[in-house]
Amino acid sequence: MEIKTVKLGIINENCYLISSNSGAVVIDPGYYSDEISDFLKLNCQKERLILITHCHFDHIGAVKKLSEEHGVKVGIGRLDSAGLSDPGLNLSHSFRIFSEPFEADILFDDNEEIEVGDLKIRVIFTPGHTKGSVCYLIGDSLFSGDTLFFESYGRTDFPGGNGEKMRESFYRLTTTLSKSVTVYPGHDKTTTIGHEIDFNPIGYMSIL
Ligand SMILES: [Zn+2]
Repeated sequence: MEIKTVKLGIINENCYLISSNSGAVVIDPGYYSDEISDFLKLNCQKERLILITHCHFDHIGAVKKLSEEHGVKVGIGRLDSAGLSDPGLNLSHSFRIFSEPFEADILFDDNEEIEVGDLKIRVIFTPGHTKGSVCYLIGDSLFSGDTLFFESYGRTDFPGGNGEKMRESFYRLTTTLSKSVTVYPGHDKTTTIGHEIDFNPIGYMSIL
């Protein structure tokens, strides 16, 4: 499995391009780029899917265009799907950015296992940053969206955010996944579950 990071937009959103022998997945194409389009073109013989970790505009901005251009389906956690067409929920209204409404093809439930070619993907429901944020676990790699960052975590003061649920999600990830799992967040650099157990400030807050 090969993972490529594409940094996009004014807030350096991380879009991930993942490919294997017979599967290709794009996670959170928040802004259009030729690199993402070329990746989908290059992998057109494989099974392909666009995955969204949560509905915020900086993670969904290019989904509709890429999906239509390449005929690739789109999946998101069921509880965040309303945000794809709601400028209040996806923050495009508050950030004064136009986000064309669209619908996803597949709505995931917690713990769902999906297969894209030979890529096996587990959907982990991790509310807190938004009502329906999910992380995607592929092998030993966790794509955490804005739930878990390097020594940090996503804001919980946006619509649908919830600090208590964020702590529960952090607890769930750090108690069920191996310390060696690499975390690929929606912003900033990669980390590991083990590092976040030791250094993430939300961990201290759960103990206090
Ligand atoms: Zn976000």
